[in-house]
Amino acid sequence: MGSAFESDAVARLRDAVSGTVYLRGDDGLAAEVACFDPTVIHDPEVVVAVATENDVAEAVRFAAENGLPVRVQATGHGSELPITDGLIISTRALDQLQIDGDTGFATIGAGLRWAPIIAAAAEFGLAPITGSSSSVGAVGYTLGGGLGPLARSHGFTADWVRGFRVVTAAGDIVTADASTNPELFWALRGGKGGLAVVTEMTLELVPLRTLYAGSIFFEGDAVEPAFRAWIDWSAGLADEATTSAVFLQVPDVEAAPPPLRGRFVLSVRFAYPGDPAEGEKLFAPLRASAAVYLDFVGEMPAAAVASIHNDPEQGSASWVRGLMLDSFDQEAGRAIYELVKPGSGSPFLAVEVRQIGGATARDTFDGTAVGGRESRYTLSTIAGDPATFAELAPARAAAISEAVADKISATTNVNWSVGLVEKAAFEKTWPPAVFDRLAADRAEWDPQRVFAFGPQ
Ligand SMILES: Cc1cc2nc3c(=O)[nH]c(=O)nc-3n(C[C@H](O)[C@H](O)[C@H](O)COP(=O)(O)OP(=O)(O)OC[C@H]3O[C@@H](n4cnc5c(N)ncnc54)[C@H](O)[C@@H]3O)c2cc1C
Repeated sequence: MGSAFESDAVARLRDAVSGTVYLRGDDGLAAEVACFDPTVIHDPEVVVAVATENDVAEAVRFAAENGLPVRVQATGHGSELPITDGLIISTRALDQLQIDGDTGFATIGAGLRWAPIIAAAAEFGLAPITGSSSSVGAVGYTLGGGLGPLARSHGFTADWVRGFRVVTAAGDIVTADASTNPELFWALRGGKGGLAVVTEMTLELVPLRTLYAGSIFFEGDAVEPAFRAWIDWSAGLADEATTSAVFLQVPDVEAAPPPLRGRFVLSVRFAYPGDPAEGEKLFAPLRASAAVYLDFVGEMPAAAVASIHNDPEQGSASWVRGLMLDSFDQEAGRAIYELVKPGSGSPFLAVEVRQIGGATARDTFDGTAVGGRESRYTLSTIAGDPATFAELAPARAAAISEAVADKISATTNVNWSVGLVEKAAFEKTWPPAVFDRLAADRAEWDPQRVFAFGPQ
């Protein structure tokens, strides 16, 4: 342990908080800050598993006094690199949730994943605008903007935030909303980090009981024509519908669903939040584009939104790279297919193209720091075999980037970017004017740089 806090400072911190303080080497520390990718193992000097917002304030003050950089973790879905210094505030126990059925506002504790929020909202006939996975943390996801299965009809999740309660670098508890600290409110919607610790988020829910949605799978000879059809069909799709297409190389392991095990497939996801008959009509051309292998698209409860993408609940070692694109066309599609098709030596478990635009292109009336509004597609590559992470996966991802080089957006979105771990990408994570304004906001709210954020 560093000498900076060898005194009774730790004892005072333990007395002051109702949560648990772990020092490096303590039993329970590793479990408290376990990550989605289990090969990323944090080993900071201190972890404070906060139970209240007062605990957050005490932890921030302790860190500032002892020169420890502060990071925040809820679920560990966002951790790409191990944290080996400073203090982690673990928000898992901040799990309060209140829904006001009259206003449709949900007050969400910083430790909550989407799943319990989706379930509680459904009881009011309401739904949060979420990401693809219901095990991702609601606050961490939304601070980056948040692009999900309803992106084109409803925009970024950050567009639905109505306020935050935060602990500042000075240890003060303040509100940020349209009328109180509006500049901080702007920055927190998309700026992601280096600003404050969010303890609570107020999110407007939308009235939504059912979706015409799900995923459909093509296999073998049908994969290529179905992808070609997806490119043309999605280009003309109504803004109210959201779709993505993913090439999956499903591992030949027992845990894989039997019909998909060991197969190379194309999965097309679709979500339409309106009349199911209209949704069926919109989806019909894609459904008819090639021989369908499995079809799970139909009317479903809005609370089943996570079944559209079916992201894994359990994490595993992974190498992920994301891009945002201004456009997508047959030429790009053909090049990507050649790089991922069976026999190509592709290391990727998944190569996904999501169509965005529609509501994601429209900022809120008061503006947000969300990056990626000018983009129309996202492109992600995910490898799962650690033996490929050093060379093959980066080389193949570079080849895919090359294939779409003329379409890559000038800036990106922080939830999609490697900007938090790669210096060269950090500045391009937001449009230049947004980047500069965020830098000024961080300097104002955290002049001593108590919060560690971005490539170190
Ligand atoms: C399986 C999977 C699916 C995903 N799907 C999507 C998707 O569909 N759309 C999308 O946009 N993104 C998606 N993401 C990316 C995800 O939104 C980010 O990784 C997000 O940061 C995860 O937040 P978390 O709280 O779960 O993770 P954590 O690792 O706990 O937190 C990530 C970061 O969020 C910040 N943070 C978290 N809580 C707080 C807080 N209380 N105060 C201040 N800062 C905080 C910190 O900077 C922290 O480092 C996905 C990621 C995974 C692994």
